[in-house]
Amino acid sequence: MPIYEYKCAGCGEVFEVILDIDGAAPSCPTCGGHECRKLIAAPAIHVKTDHATARIEKRVRDYLIDGKVSDARRFADKAASMVKSDRVKRIADRLHKKSGK
Ligand SMILES: [Zn+2]
Repeated sequence: MPIYEYKCAGCGEVFEVILDIDGAAPSCPTCGGHECRKLIAAPAIHVKTDHATARIEKRVRDYLIDGKVSDARRFADKAASMVKSDRVKRIADRLHKKSGK
């Protein structure tokens, strides 16, 4: 089950919720408020991977800004083999499609 972190806009409480994504925000366990914001897009159990993914995304973007598509692709492939993240795999896949022109 995925775990999501929410922060209550009313009292500032940060809490974890186990749920399927259905767009409905949970209510705060402390004050019962409904204005709770999801803190992270991915399940909390993958937080460490997400930090790595963010760094990888930035590096790939930097390569692309410099026009180094093959360097970006090589880096993304290496990253995808090291970081077990679907997002990194998608970045690598996207770069391969990009080069198919
Ligand atoms: Zn609250």
